[in-house]
Amino acid sequence: MSVTLVNISKVFTDQDDKTKEFTAVSNVNIEIKEGEMVTFLGPSGCGKTTTLRIISGFENQTTGDVYIDGKLVNDLPANKRDSSMVFQSYAIFPHLSVADNIGFGLELKGMKKAQIKVEVDKIMQTMGLSSLGNRQPSQLSGGQQQRVALARAIVNKPRVLLFDEPLSNLDAKLREQMRTEIRRIQQKFGITSIYVTHDQAEAMTVSDRIMVMDKGIIQQLGTPFEIYSRPTNHFVADFIGRANFIPATVVTLDKEVTLKVGEKECAFPSFNKDLKVGKSATIVIRPEGLRIGKKEEGAFFRGKVTQAVYLGSTMEYEIAVPNRKEPVVAISYNPVLEGFYKIGDTVSLTFDPISAH
Ligand code: ADP
Ligand code: MG
Repeated sequence: MSVTLVNISKVFTDQDDKTKEFTAVSNVNIEIKEGEMVTFLGPSGCGKTTTLRIISGFENQTTGDVYIDGKLVNDLPANKRDSSMVFQSYAIFPHLSVADNIGFGLELKGMKKAQIKVEVDKIMQTMGLSSLGNRQPSQLSGGQQQRVALARAIVNKPRVLLFDEPLSNLDAKLREQMRTEIRRIQQKFGITSIYVTHDQAEAMTVSDRIMVMDKGIIQQLGTPFEIYSRPTNHFVADFIGRANFIPATVVTLDKEVTLKVGEKECAFPSFNKDLKVGKSATIVIRPEGLRIGKKEEGAFFRGKVTQAVYLGSTMEYEIAVPNRKEPVVAISYNPVLEGFYKIGDTVSLTFDPISAH
């Protein structure tokens, strides 16, 4: 089922001072396609949960329309919207076995016991829970509890699955496993899903598209590639991964843009449309896009290594560059071939314009 938001805003009134208003969500427009998984990504307090609750019907929008499967659902209560929510706190019942937890919603719907067993067995098998049916929740690990919560949501065959930071309570390793698993299950069932997180790596892993929010406003809506490699503004570039921001001046503007960077002029294929000839621009280049070397030919910068950290598969450097407050961050993915540099070494930095934006 598709989910469409048209001009959704939410204004909260301060409980203590009724004259004070706060806009938590501002004019959000998005069309989520059937079977698609979209993530709302942004810092704490940016309006992700509020937007999700408006879709589920747990919160009323101040203005705007919510459509599910093309039908206006503004006046439909939460339990009539056929969405299922998976929360951070698993909200599984401690006094019920795993199988009874998963079958709970089906029982509420009045499904026959034998049929419930068939449905529950099927979903437990799909999700690797078959051997745990008789266990109590207290006998499960965090990851298993989260899987039960997910199974309980999916067994009801919801039209839309909503996740609100479902993995925040898990440790790092389990989080990585579970996010891949959630994506696998979502794709297997093809359920239209909306996933809320403040973790950019999680967003990149599970999403078809990411909606980046700040202060209630959409900053960018795009595929993980677009969000990471073609950010539309400074906030997005900075929030998603690490970024070097390099000042430049626009020399020519056509199918490509020619920028003056330091003493060098160079054409860039990927750029935002709001540039103007003669004006300043900012280049975003990710740490892995920079190449460190000794040769000065063709280098954009020269600088001194101020930090060198060996991480096994990679080597991470901070390089102090003249006329810049912040050091440039560079990652070498193949230090054995590319060479190791030490703190104090003078190095040159180059990059391929195709990996910059
Ligand atoms: P996120 O999920 O991105 O962390 P939320 O959607 O929960 O953010 O909240 C967005 C903003 O709205 C926050 O500043 C929060 O304090 C505020 N807010 C959320 N719910 C209420 C409420 N019921 N009353 C007043 N303010 C609220
Ligand atoms: Mg939240």
